[in-house]
Amino acid sequence: MTPVYDIAIVGAGMAGASLAAAIGSRARVAILEAEDAPGYHATGRSAAFWSETYGGPDIQPLTTASGPFLEADGHLSPLGSIHVGRAADEAAIDAFLAAFADSDVVLDRIDPALHIPGLRADWTLGVREQSCAYIDVAAVHAKSIAVARAAGADLVIDAAFLAARRSDGIWTVETRAGTFRARTIVNAAGAWADTVAVRAGARPLRLQPYRRTMVQLRTDPGAPEGLPHIADIAGRFYFKPEPGGRLWLSPHDETPTDPCDAAPEEIDVAIAIDRFEQVVDWRVAAVERRWAGLRTFAPDRLPIYGFDRDVPGFFWCAGQGGFGIQTAPAAALLAASLLLGVSPDPAVAAIDAARYAPERF
Ligand SMILES: Cc1cc2nc3c(=O)[nH]c(=O)nc-3n(C[C@H](O)[C@H](O)[C@H](O)COP(=O)(O)OP(=O)(O)OC[C@H]3O[C@@H](n4cnc5c(N)ncnc54)[C@H](O)[C@@H]3O)c2cc1C
Repeated sequence: MTPVYDIAIVGAGMAGASLAAAIGSRARVAILEAEDAPGYHATGRSAAFWSETYGGPDIQPLTTASGPFLEADGHLSPLGSIHVGRAADEAAIDAFLAAFADSDVVLDRIDPALHIPGLRADWTLGVREQSCAYIDVAAVHAKSIAVARAAGADLVIDAAFLAARRSDGIWTVETRAGTFRARTIVNAAGAWADTVAVRAGARPLRLQPYRRTMVQLRTDPGAPEGLPHIADIAGRFYFKPEPGGRLWLSPHDETPTDPCDAAPEEIDVAIAIDRFEQVVDWRVAAVERRWAGLRTFAPDRLPIYGFDRDVPGFFWCAGQGGFGIQTAPAAALLAASLLLGVSPDPAVAAIDAARYAPERF
């Protein structure tokens, strides 16, 4: 007879891995991952920045609370961000500043032309978010998995979750790697979270994956030393410098798709370059890499942490959208407290977990 785990986490991306690390040795955990490489999907395809404003004011507490953990592990490095706009974006700039006025996020209005060489003349509005940072995503993810394993978690790869049924308080979980038993299932399956829910007999929560495209550019001139992350206040692009004078650029696309191994479309690459050329006068010398990943959102674009309303022993850790890396440490602590039924870590005690509860749907 197979052992009975306390918790079987489906998905070893950032969500599942960070939750397993936060649970630590307080429960016997199995992490069941469909792929042979944890992090193959959204986690391995991110733009790798930490921005307190990204995702809006309801996400900001999770991002801000995660900062000290990421910093202490050496996973953040200085980047800074400037949100830019044209004259017609004045109201959007005001709304953006107002949205964070009650938070501790430091935002200053600046003249973007003083900070972005080659900026085209119509980009006259700017807001600086100095705290924005690079995140070493691979290191954050690898550390979470290492911490979880050191605490006794079993990571099983090539173990796609196929079905589960519960009797006498114990789930029998069928996977491609065999049968497992667990008292609780955690759904951390990213774009497949609704599929996993249905296979466990739970109601899907209308999670929608959206494709997002990234390109790596070589430009002439190359990205200047000290360039911050540049984001359009109207949400049509962002770009950030990378080593070797390269840039990572996104057209901020959000194409709804079914869960899949996402690949970039030529049209989105072309849109990205067109938008970029409207911002700065640098020539695009080469598109060196292109990739796409899925950002999966609940209908209200907030993540879902908590036990399912109807199916006992089924816990949601899904809908991390475009902020699943930068929020991971705090979100994992919050989710672990809900899952284990213990008081939250002091770092997240002031965050209202009810706004992320599955019963809101
Ligand atoms: C282009 C792009 C840029 C982004 N930029 C940023 C950024 O700068 N900062 C930031 O914080 N976030 C960013 N994000 C968002 C971030 O990447 C995601 O929020 C985060 O990776 C989600 O983690 P996850 O574990 O939920 O999903 P995933 O990493 O997709 O992990 C889910 C896992 O579940 C597994 N799985 C699925 N079905 C099953 C099954 N049936 N059985 C077993 N396992 C299964 C999958 O194989 C996968 O490994 C970006 C995302 C994209 C696509």
